[in-house]
Amino acid sequence: MPLTANYPSRRGLLKGAAGGCAALIAAPYLLRHAAAQAWPGGDPFSLGVAAGAPRPDGFVLWTRLAPDPLSNNPATPGGMRGGDVTIGYEIATDPSLHHIVRRGEAIAEQIFAYSVHLDVAGLDPGRPYWYRFTSGDASSRIGRAVTVPQPGSALGRLKLGFVSCSNYEHGYFSAYRHLAEENPDFVLFLGDYIYEYIEERRPTVRRHSDGIEASTLPTYRNRHAQYKLDLDLQSLHAEAPALVTWDDHEVQDDYADKWSKFFDDPSHFLVRRAAAYRAFYEHMPVRPIMSQPEGPLMRIYDRFAFGDLVEISMIDGRQYRSREACYAPPNLESNASCPERNDPGRTMLGFAQEAWLYSNLSRSKAHWNVIAQDVLMAQLGIKQDDGYGFSTDDWDGYPADRSRILKRIHDSRASNPVVIGGDTHAYFANDLRLDFDDPAAPVVATEFVGTSISSYGPPYELIARALPENPHIRFFDSRRRGYVVIDLVPAHMQVDMRVVSDAADPKADISTLKAFAVEGGRPGVVEA
Ligand code: FE
Ligand code: CA
Repeated sequence: MPLTANYPSRRGLLKGAAGGCAALIAAPYLLRHAAAQAWPGGDPFSLGVAAGAPRPDGFVLWTRLAPDPLSNNPATPGGMRGGDVTIGYEIATDPSLHHIVRRGEAIAEQIFAYSVHLDVAGLDPGRPYWYRFTSGDASSRIGRAVTVPQPGSALGRLKLGFVSCSNYEHGYFSAYRHLAEENPDFVLFLGDYIYEYIEERRPTVRRHSDGIEASTLPTYRNRHAQYKLDLDLQSLHAEAPALVTWDDHEVQDDYADKWSKFFDDPSHFLVRRAAAYRAFYEHMPVRPIMSQPEGPLMRIYDRFAFGDLVEISMIDGRQYRSREACYAPPNLESNASCPERNDPGRTMLGFAQEAWLYSNLSRSKAHWNVIAQDVLMAQLGIKQDDGYGFSTDDWDGYPADRSRILKRIHDSRASNPVVIGGDTHAYFANDLRLDFDDPAAPVVATEFVGTSISSYGPPYELIARALPENPHIRFFDSRRRGYVVIDLVPAHMQVDMRVVSDAADPKADISTLKAFAVEGGRPGVVEA
């Protein structure tokens, strides 16, 4: 059974529950707060709610008070002023909040733009909860959160969605809406959740509200707030708890650690990175202690276990990586043009995160081991005059590190390793071989890359033409936008690649482009 299948679906119960919600508003606790603060200037919960960072006994609940959400006056972020604000929260075991198991107070922190990162503990393992925030005469929408089963306990089934690359200017977020309607247990956000830049070369569907590239704290906050105002994204966050990592566009296109795209003075770039990371923290349901940013540093890589079924390592592929080799957009570098690419001293994850990943894999007793990260891992060589050209922004820019990691995955004997990623704005299904240049080398893991939610895809013909020379790439399509649903049981992983009819249509339909599977004990892509 899916993790939450024994519990009623939120949509089903809400239909008959309107009277119940009204009765709840008369609770004495809420009246006390109603007297404390009215919100005549706008809905303080305009940015919605989100849950994340699940543990067996709790999770993190997020919101950010923003009655004037797109205000980017640094003195009054979101239209708020003054010190920290105390708000109320309620957690219930049912979708219409009849059976409340926890009420309390949460702090909207002034220093983090009045965001709330409420770390809840003491709940029961392996079940859904529903929550909302309240303040004075306002209450947030109701969201769903989930605790994971106890470590090692049997879990028969889990349904995950994974998404990446939602450029607001390139389309509507119908894909988020359709994923919410599929009621996944959790959603993995694999990066490019926002885009910092302004589209200037290609047509746009809608515009970033302030018309400027985000590069400062107020402008990154404004960008995150605009995305969070999207109702399709809000419904996905309300429906399913999120596991999050980032890619480049949360800060700047193709950055690597302290090096901007064009290797500007790192001390300047780190000021920008600090602003971007801080705004990310302020808008995501991440752990308040572990992930709270300190200047330009913010720890987001994290490990989540779902009973004995699956462990997920969420990877940070940007903060610790070596400077890109021979960076020169569109950056297809060959061995002849860029020997630096193969330097074994270069790293994508940084050596501390790499060691952490190895330890996760070697200790794991789960049936499945998912490595959730930002960019394409399989080799993709594109023939050029001087040999094969490789993108230096994805794992092809760090081939020695990739070889090291694939060998460690192999040696760890971790059960059923699967890598998932985004960034390419294209679907890929790949056999990750110990040596990509040897078609007889063992397959050590299976990779699925999700297409973008809305961001424009790369030229289809260019990559499709290269596929015969990259036989470990079993499927590729960059022409459609969408998301991936993984249905996981101990012996089988089903992978459905969904596509929207048209990202320029706010009411787009959904369909399945292609379905794949991985069979337990047999790494590699199987047609489903
Ligand atoms: Fe992207
Ligand atoms: Ca990217």
